[in-house]
Amino acid sequence: MKKGKKLYEGKAKIVYATNDKSLGIQHFKDSATAFNNKKRATIDGKGILNNRISEHILSNLSQIGIKNHLVKRLNMREQLIKLVEIIPIEFIVRNVATGSLTKRLGIEDGTELRKPLIEFCLKNDELGDPLISKEHIFSFEWASKKEIDKIEGDLHRMNDFMIGMFRGVGIKLIDFKVEFGRLKNTTINEIILADEISPDTCRLWDMKSEKKLDKDRFRQNLGNLIDAYQDVARRLGILHENSNIRPLKFPKPKAVKIKRNK
Ligand code: 5GP
Repeated sequence: MKKGKKLYEGKAKIVYATNDKSLGIQHFKDSATAFNNKKRATIDGKGILNNRISEHILSNLSQIGIKNHLVKRLNMREQLIKLVEIIPIEFIVRNVATGSLTKRLGIEDGTELRKPLIEFCLKNDELGDPLISKEHIFSFEWASKKEIDKIEGDLHRMNDFMIGMFRGVGIKLIDFKVEFGRLKNTTINEIILADEISPDTCRLWDMKSEKKLDKDRFRQNLGNLIDAYQDVARRLGILHENSNIRPLKFPKPKAVKIKRNK
């Protein structure tokens, strides 16, 4: 598959065209941003881990019938994907109240929700991705009622599956954000899951210690983000126990005195 021109560059990913009009190459960058781009950093190895973790989750979701854009992983940082026209909505599913929900409504952080809560945000950085209602979606024709019904069904199934998958490795799925799109350049009229699912887009807490294993480590200056993402990858069986994606760092050579024979 030949990599063509850049089609789109976002905060954490780039999408390139290929010689097949319906397919693209999604490249995972090492950049991290938060608070609507106000906080930025480059974190070595983050893109590699997100590529692997997202591949793992999306292929598992395919197996339970959640159609998504992943065709296959190509290399450390790239995936072959089906091109879609992204619906301009961030779909958020919450199992435990934290983050913007607690700030917005004054709910105590860590409150378990009686049932999963779905929220819709308009995907618009300039406006700070504002919360919207289904009525807004239908009124401005961002998606149809039929599309939202289908997406909501998918969101509940994904949430059930991912809660179980993470629970099996001692991780609690607190919440996540996903995006959907309409297939491009095909005659098939279908909405599929797109973008990525990774510790950048989910909140993941260790079941026992409640240690944060996600992007909140960056947002809240908790440090050790790569260690946390590697921990998630190892627990999911994607990364070998002893492997480390960080580039090897060798100590600087030290000057040594050479004893000369007299
Ligand atoms: P909150 O609305 O509490 O900030 O985020 C809810 C969930 O959606 C969290 O898992 C968070 O990581 C994810 N999320 C919301 N907006 C974005 C976004 O713009 N980018 C990313 N990567 N994740 C987001």
